[in-house]
Amino acid sequence: MARVAAGPEIERLIQLLARLPGLGPRSARRAALHLVKKKEQLLGPLASALAETRDTIVTCDNCGNIDTMSACTLCRDPARDRSLICVVEEVGDLWALERAAVLNGLYHVLGGTLSPLDGVGPEDLFIARLVERAGAPEVTEILLALNATVEGQSTAHYLTDHLSGCNVVVSRLAHGVPIGGELDYLDEGTLAAAVKARKVM
Ligand code: ZN
Repeated sequence: MARVAAGPEIERLIQLLARLPGLGPRSARRAALHLVKKKEQLLGPLASALAETRDTIVTCDNCGNIDTMSACTLCRDPARDRSLICVVEEVGDLWALERAAVLNGLYHVLGGTLSPLDGVGPEDLFIARLVERAGAPEVTEILLALNATVEGQSTAHYLTDHLSGCNVVVSRLAHGVPIGGELDYLDEGTLAAAVKARKVM
């Protein structure tokens, strides 16, 4: 059996930290050590922030975003353009688009993608509510900002079919050369998509 240097409480902290994305056992040990060394400045405030988040976090009934109230801050914001709904797979994608500050519409978080092999069907995602929202008279465009993966794209096709009865334009993000990308380093699929989506200068 491997020897352990710390008591069960610290071992438990390390094991929990190791379950976070991007943290393996080694970095979890370093993080735990850092936290216990900085008890006042870091461990205490982190513990309070975690408890507060646990007690207040909810999923928005309207759009699937995570916030401390439902409807969420974005859905309530009167400055948002209510004619555009941007559909994303996960809350992290919504955060990424908000950081880029390129859209001023509303969002809809599906909670994943369709994946028959993993048993994920339309009823497992937040799709029925999206179709409902797309039917509202003020909505004119649904932007499908899904990942450029097989699952993301087949989900986009499914949604396009199911939104065809609504009086909205269904758009999707362009595929192509990333900003700062060099052609020589791109895979054939990305290059082919970029050629197909070419624009007149
Ligand atoms: Zn919302």
